[in-house]
Amino acid sequence: MVKTALITGITGQDGYYLSRLLLEKHYRVVGLVPPNRQSSVAKLGALADQVEIYSVALTDPVALAEAVEQLQPQEIYNLTAPSFVPDSWKDPLATLDLVTGTATRLLDAVRQAGLATRFYQASSSEMFGQVDQSPQDENTPFRPMNPYAAAKVHAHWTMVHHRQRYGLFACSGILYNHESPLRPPNFVTRKVSLGVASIKLGLSDQLEMGNLDAKRDWGYAGDHVEAMWRMLQADEPEDYVIGTGQLHSVRELIATAFACVDLDWSRYVVVEPGLLRSDEHFHLVANPSKAKQNLDWQPQISFEALLAKMVQRDMDRLKSGTASSPLSVN
Ligand code: GDP
Repeated sequence: MVKTALITGITGQDGYYLSRLLLEKHYRVVGLVPPNRQSSVAKLGALADQVEIYSVALTDPVALAEAVEQLQPQEIYNLTAPSFVPDSWKDPLATLDLVTGTATRLLDAVRQAGLATRFYQASSSEMFGQVDQSPQDENTPFRPMNPYAAAKVHAHWTMVHHRQRYGLFACSGILYNHESPLRPPNFVTRKVSLGVASIKLGLSDQLEMGNLDAKRDWGYAGDHVEAMWRMLQADEPEDYVIGTGQLHSVRELIATAFACVDLDWSRYVVVEPGLLRSDEHFHLVANPSKAKQNLDWQPQISFEALLAKMVQRDMDRLKSGTASSPLSVN
């Protein structure tokens, strides 16, 4: 039987990698895309012809229930979110509605349809916020420090309630930063890979950065979506922390990326005080032991290989004049 998977947020980085994975596994992949976001489907590149797009407002509970009823999915992956965290301060209520509202409406739609649909909720390491234990695992308390993280916590608990109260097969993956050549350039990894490629090709001679001492657990998006899929194939619905377990500083990230093209980063990088963030003092790093043990999941691509892939892809884009095109990645 061909399985049907519904994905919200299909036009984002994770939507791309997850669609690719599911298509390889011969799923019928359907993206739930709001009417005003249809043009972004082109971002899926060659995959756009292989997935189906169902136009629906994620704010409309009746239309979402109809979509679930009509498509009868075996799996739903709720990935939609404003991915750039600092933006959530600008409109906390809109963030809450998109993140928590969409999760709640979809979970209710599954419950009301009485289907055995398996549900994946995209949770985030941001939910841990102000941690006093490192690394974090599935038992670490949430202390969200921004509207995005607070909304994600609410969506997470709504998912847990549907699992406990209504017996839904619902899981959440608490994912740490995961990157790829599809990351938008406002994220630090892609900003650096694009900056390195530009400097190497003589298109610029300087890279302005914020806090070089900030640290993150950076993984590869292609690895992390594999974990999402594995969660929904498990015998029991459970939540998992998904990350590499390795902490690197922005300084290490920069040095590694410049080393990919044999350049000394210290000659090109300047710290721009306006890019420093006032609200970050905590180092989030995963303890992914549970995923390794229960799902046999572990990252396949190292930090160095990830950056080499991103820098190479940006070199290719700049040479071919398609620097803003996210198509055909690997
Ligand atoms: P986040 O984990 O969602 O905040 O992902 P980002 O990629 O935006 O930021 C990762 C870290 O890199 C944060 O601690 C930033 O303070 C730090 N950082 C340092 N310089 C920059 C920069 O120029 N741009 C961005 N986006 N982050 C930077």
